[in-house]
Amino acid sequence: MIMSEHQCNTEDIKKAADILINARHAIVFTGAGISTESGIPDFRGPQGLWKQYNPEIASIDYFLQNPKDFWLFYRMRMSTLFVAKPNTAHYAVAELERMGIIKAIITQNVDGLHQVAGSRNVIELHGTMKRAVCIACGRTYPMEVAIRKIDSGQIPPLCDECGGILKPDTVLFGEPVKDFDKARELALMSDAVLVVGSSLSVYPAAYIPIFVKEMGGKVIIINMESTDLDYIADVIIRCKAGDAMALLLKEIKEKSGIQ
Ligand SMILES: [Zn+2]
Repeated sequence: MIMSEHQCNTEDIKKAADILINARHAIVFTGAGISTESGIPDFRGPQGLWKQYNPEIASIDYFLQNPKDFWLFYRMRMSTLFVAKPNTAHYAVAELERMGIIKAIITQNVDGLHQVAGSRNVIELHGTMKRAVCIACGRTYPMEVAIRKIDSGQIPPLCDECGGILKPDTVLFGEPVKDFDKARELALMSDAVLVVGSSLSVYPAAYIPIFVKEMGGKVIIINMESTDLDYIADVIIRCKAGDAMALLLKEIKEKSGIQ
């Protein structure tokens, strides 16, 4: 079969719709690829952030040693992220949750766009850039507060409570992921997972589809490039996340009768 690289394959969309409609407990797992159409560059893709910057700058060691330089880099990066809006794929995921087709979203993204699109049950494995946290006392602040401190010259921004240094509430390289036990539990009770926009190369996050597969569940992957876990997939849809999700949502609505 010849597959066009950028056109969604209708048969694959149908297969994916059948799996999700018949699933007892389906979840969605997302990565940077779902947000690229919102203008957020991914990290590892051809235009990825790590082609321009040394990933070391996003490590906890770098942060602790150079909090000022870290925040100058992060502040710049946030200017793109804070104006980003959800795209068709985020809205389709939210719609599938509202319809009861999927039960939860596990994301590697820190941009908060799933919640803006209306998703409710979201596990953010890598934290969120919508918040900052004091590394001394753990108090959290809306990111806007940290930005205001930076823009008024306090770099790094400091905690009002204890004077400790604030850190974005995201998981930096060298830090453990958040809520992994909760995510694993969800994966182990799921009989289908829809992966959208992840190369499935970052662990432990990439264990999520593996857990579903190991429990006998089905794995659907929507991603432009091949992923490290294509070999466990039941369906692979190789096209843009927005296009694929729009078609999938339409197919599920038609087939299931749920509006
Ligand atoms: Zn503090």
